[in-house]
Amino acid sequence: IWADVLSYVRSNISDVEYHTWFAPVKILGVREGSLVIGVRNSFAQEWFKKHYLGLLENALRSLGAEHPQVSFEVLPAVQEAMILPDDPPPPARAAAPAPTPVQKSLNPKYTFENFVIGPNNNLAHAAALAVAEAPGKAYNPLFIYGDVGLGKTHLMHAVGHYLAERFPEKRIEYVSTESFTNELITAIREDKTTQFRNRYRSVDLLLVDDIQFLARKERTQEEFFHTFNALYENHKQIILSSDRPPKDIQTLESRLRSRFEWGLITDIQSPEFETRVAILKMNAEHSGMNIPQDVLELIARQVTTNIRELEGALMRVAAFASLNNAPFSRAVAAKALSNVFAPQEVQLEMGDILSAVAAQYEISPDLIRGSGRAREVVTPRQVAMYLIRELTSHSLPEIGQFFGRDHSTVMHAVSKVTEGVAKDPELLAQVDRLRHQLQGSVEAG
Ligand code: ADP
Ligand code: MG
Repeated sequence: IWADVLSYVRSNISDVEYHTWFAPVKILGVREGSLVIGVRNSFAQEWFKKHYLGLLENALRSLGAEHPQVSFEVLPAVQEAMILPDDPPPPARAAAPAPTPVQKSLNPKYTFENFVIGPNNNLAHAAALAVAEAPGKAYNPLFIYGDVGLGKTHLMHAVGHYLAERFPEKRIEYVSTESFTNELITAIREDKTTQFRNRYRSVDLLLVDDIQFLARKERTQEEFFHTFNALYENHKQIILSSDRPPKDIQTLESRLRSRFEWGLITDIQSPEFETRVAILKMNAEHSGMNIPQDVLELIARQVTTNIRELEGALMRVAAFASLNNAPFSRAVAAKALSNVFAPQEVQLEMGDILSAVAAQYEISPDLIRGSGRAREVVTPRQVAMYLIRELTSHSLPEIGQFFGRDHSTVMHAVSKVTEGVAKDPELLAQVDRLRHQLQGSVEAG
């Protein structure tokens, strides 16, 4: 039954949402007529109550339950720890070195729970989780690369939190390559290199951020080489991040480069539209802001490549709305962002274009998005795809998804209409009229 519920859920929400929220849940059984679902923490519990209760009830209803009831329970942390491989925490010994106060160096917000999984980062996420569950065993080192603001530091900290929560006695060090370099310089100057070495060579998990800054720092490379070897030989986990893959880091000693390639190299790409919306939604929720979906979508369309900027844009909109005592509307959001982003980027929604096309052809938008193959439906559908392609920055797969089709259908539609307008003056007039109407509506809005 749970598999059926999940497949129902899956077909009703996006993949991103599904992986973020439903992949980690566990079914705890049926208690007093209610399906009990185990979630990871109280934030997830609230989130499920708020966003997925109705969906889950519908899923049960679709399976024949007359009065479906669903409840959510927070899973005890141990239950998750049980899935860890055979590496029980050693009994605490009095002589054990005091655990480092990890909380100090790890950002509390950067956890796995707060990390939205999308097609752009799911491999890096899976690798990080695997490493968190079996440090020193799964992939060593784990090398995560990607452009700035895409979640590398977040993922590294997430592994740190995960380990710290389950094994408080483990020593975890997070350090940026810059700090590592500076500390080394200080240590050399003050004749404290032994302390420096002990500190970094006695950890269970070493997170080194932005390792590209090792380039051209020979002394630091040398020191890091020995740190790396010491940890690696003792099966201690190393995670490295960089803005580029090892092979592209100039003037990196080849013995280091090859070591960086020993484990797993994984990248994070820019997030797709859907992932951006999901991140904004989670952020808004965390800050207790209730921002309508269409406003989140507008923001997500403005900032496409950097999640830090995406979050900044959300804060900007929130601040603007509260300063002006205005509601969270699309107009307000567009205004709040207009100084930062070029105004022409304020875009038409796919839905707006679909409505305009539907009105012109006098058929319902649902028919256009439906599966009908009659000419009266196919032409408006192709025109809508064509105009969306022309007037928005949506990708072919995104447009395809909007119409419940794949990207090749959209490609076909675009070339059909392109050919069509060249031959058929009536079609050309229709498309022109729609284009003017739609562009006018943006300028007026
Ligand atoms: P990087 O280290 O790659 O430059 P960060 O890890 O500092 O990027 O991420 C920048 C911001 O974006 C952080 O606030 C982080 O929490 C957020 N962020 C990045 N990826 C995600 C994600 N998948 N889900 C939620 N927030 C994310
Ligand atoms: Mg970073």
